[in-house]
Amino acid sequence: VFIAFEGGEGAGKSTQVRRLQEWLTEEGLVARTTREPGGTPLGGKIRGMVLDTASAGLSPRAEALLYAADRAQHLHDVLRPALDAGEVVITDRFVDSSLAYQGAGRTIPMDDVRSISRWATQGLQPDLTILLDLPPEVGLARARGRAAADRLESESIDFHQRVRRTFNALAEAQPDRYLVLDARRTPDELAAAIRTRVSELLHG
Ligand code: C5P
Repeated sequence: VFIAFEGGEGAGKSTQVRRLQEWLTEEGLVARTTREPGGTPLGGKIRGMVLDTASAGLSPRAEALLYAADRAQHLHDVLRPALDAGEVVITDRFVDSSLAYQGAGRTIPMDDVRSISRWATQGLQPDLTILLDLPPEVGLARARGRAAADRLESESIDFHQRVRRTFNALAEAQPDRYLVLDARRTPDELAAAIRTRVSELLHG
């Protein structure tokens, strides 16, 4: 079973990824968490390259290919082997992030982002995508407290609005495969809603 978390800056994905894994483990399942970019050693280097403020001059297409390379390695080293072994795999970001950030954010045509992503993933899709949605102003204010927050300031609010709209449009296009939650709810409320939906997914 493959579950992805998506959302903008400061949505609280990492907290919910961890809480879901802890709960699944208590339930006796083998659950693994991972992330993009950076789910493999190569991916860690790519993460440094794309997120380093010094790479501000990175071209949008080069950036899109680096995310795709991260994802191809992630599929090969982590996702495919773990899913084949029957584990529950929870990833912090997946293809939707590329559609939102490289597509809508950097304005690369959606079909291009979709096709390089499909090539990198060999068509693998999450069984469930959990979108933690919140207005960019709120998320950015939360994220500002963190290290490496400078990078966030380099994008306009309009960039983050486009990212948010794209995540929501993807969810609306396939409502059965998404759980969309208002990330302004408390962490406990979010965790409870996520557990309910994941239980349905696991037990039908
Ligand atoms: O939330 P996380 O720390 O994983 O995201 C790191 C950053 O990478 C985000 O702030 C986002 O701007 C960027 N990102 C991106 N395109 C992706 C995935 C992440 O621009 N496909």
